[in-house]
Amino acid sequence: MTCEELLRALNEVIDDQSALALYHEFADHLAGCNPCHLVIDNIRKTIQLYKAGEPYLMPDGFQDRFRDALRAKWKAKFPDATT
Ligand SMILES: [Zn+2]
Repeated sequence: MTCEELLRALNEVIDDQSALALYHEFADHLAGCNPCHLVIDNIRKTIQLYKAGEPYLMPDGFQDRFRDALRAKWKAKFPDATT
């Protein structure tokens, strides 16, 4: 699994809470990729906030900037990874 594949799967997790089962399929990738691990952890906390009924709004453009920053880090760490 590449970072790109994991990112795509993350969108499904965000869109459908039942897709959290995908989390277990990430285990192998997460074991060797700390940035992705942090992203998953963040998303889980976000979903937990939703379930608790707490409003959780990200600033405009935050997701894009966050994703771009992560991609830059991943590119630096894995120059050969496809993006
Ligand atoms: Zn990764």
